[in-house]
Amino acid sequence: MGAPPLTRIGHWISGRPTPGASDRTAPVYDPARGVQTGEVALASAAEIDHVVTVAARAASLWGASSSSARATVMFRLRQLLDGHRDALAATVTAEHGKVRDDALGEVARGIENVEFACGVPHLLKGSVSTEVSSGVDVQTVLEPLGVIAGITPFNFPVMVPLWMMANAVASGNAFVLKPSEKDPSAALLLAELAREAGVPDGVFNVVQGDAEAVDALLAHPTVAAVSFVGSTPVARHIYETGTANGKRVQALGGAKNHMVVLPDADLEAAADAAVNAAYGSAGERCMAISVVVAVGDIADDLVEAIAARLPDLVVGPGDDPTSMMGPLITAQHRDKVRSYVVNAAEEGARVVVDGSTPPREEGFFLGPSLLDRVEPGMKVYDDEIFGPVLGVIRAASLDEAVSVINATPYGNGVALFTRDGAAARHFARTVHIGMVGINVPIPVPVASHSFGGWKDSIFGSSPIYGPEGLRFYTRQKVVTSRWPTSGGSTIDLGFPTNR
Ligand code: NAD
Repeated sequence: MGAPPLTRIGHWISGRPTPGASDRTAPVYDPARGVQTGEVALASAAEIDHVVTVAARAASLWGASSSSARATVMFRLRQLLDGHRDALAATVTAEHGKVRDDALGEVARGIENVEFACGVPHLLKGSVSTEVSSGVDVQTVLEPLGVIAGITPFNFPVMVPLWMMANAVASGNAFVLKPSEKDPSAALLLAELAREAGVPDGVFNVVQGDAEAVDALLAHPTVAAVSFVGSTPVARHIYETGTANGKRVQALGGAKNHMVVLPDADLEAAADAAVNAAYGSAGERCMAISVVVAVGDIADDLVEAIAARLPDLVVGPGDDPTSMMGPLITAQHRDKVRSYVVNAAEEGARVVVDGSTPPREEGFFLGPSLLDRVEPGMKVYDDEIFGPVLGVIRAASLDEAVSVINATPYGNGVALFTRDGAAARHFARTVHIGMVGINVPIPVPVASHSFGGWKDSIFGSSPIYGPEGLRFYTRQKVVTSRWPTSGGSTIDLGFPTNR
């Protein structure tokens, strides 16, 4: 019996699946088995031009629809997503590899964004000032931008598209999603559900592709704004090219997140949190903890407590309910992550747990690794590894920990474990990181707040989703009106003043 035929994964344009016209494709794998299961179409610049034209046509009607009509569609979408949690999670697991519970968690956090967007009539309320001058009223209103492009990473194929799509569509725009070519199928399921929910054809499109498609979106004159989530070098490119082409751009990049543990912390709780946040999703999360900063004399006990937990982590296929940690996304990425562990000792780190020998024969697996005595200047510290590798550095005081963290180029997330409220407050006020957790290891804000790092973790001034995300997809218009009851106008070329 030969291998099953590859699934051909295409686009979703104008409310229907579209196979794609270009002859370029990319392989899609089942990372747990290490076999290719599909091939995804890679859109050409001409196909991008087509999808943007379709979206622009749809945006003009959708943008003129009432906010209550759009809210009704979002409520229906919320219901459909809720009813398809398992199907969405299974699609994520099949192509990304993360374990089913983790995939369900991603779906739940994605749905939160649709729930937020259901409140769009309230969220788009402008402001009014009456009688700002004699007989003059002013209103500020928020209007959609038109066509928005969203470019998303492989590690959250449901949640990150929903970070963008929910607010972009609810606020009256048309949205063109370019998902990661590594796990492209979840986006198509989202598009199907959006159509079923009543999102008009052309308002939510999925175009598969690689850098060629992205560059065509960045160059297209009709794309008004670009939301990007991915690695820092690509985020920088997206921001620089998009803004040079006159677009509004929010580009969220990579991360290297620290978890500081003070000597007064609950050691067992801190060790559990470090394990969950470092090895969940095989470390392929932008809010994963990749460095523990042990302050003072807690270091040895903490390293020991973390190490003691690692033999119990069951590494296996995401669709096996006993698995706790799945594979890496590709063989190439697994090999890159592995090289950091293999070279760690030579760099001067102490390899406490070596996960570099793949625990299974097939698939792109690695075991969890724990490296102690890591220091700034080592590649294992400086680089975003994006795998199941946790480094431990030591600091004499909280202030020393903060200054190490503040010197890093990334600024996505950070956590502090302590029982000391004053220390926690001092930490939150002095650390130069966008999202801070106090006894919370992965402080991804709920959808009613916005998400965004600092420094090289974001390019552009707008965080994503929540109120700031909605604001990014709209522009304000200020209408100043006077309705005189009778004539009384005069010629006066002076600059209008208020009286
Ligand atoms: P990536 O940057 O390789 O790819 C992201 C997207 O950009 C994909 O759609 C890809 O097709 C496209 N792309 C890749 N190279 C490109 C190029 N040269 N020109 C134009 N487009 C290009 O990221 P990834 O490997 O898919 O995802 C992992 C990265 O994303 C990590 O660095 C992680 O920290 C980051 N991430 C950040 C956040 C956040 O919120 N800050 C969230 C999730 C992931």
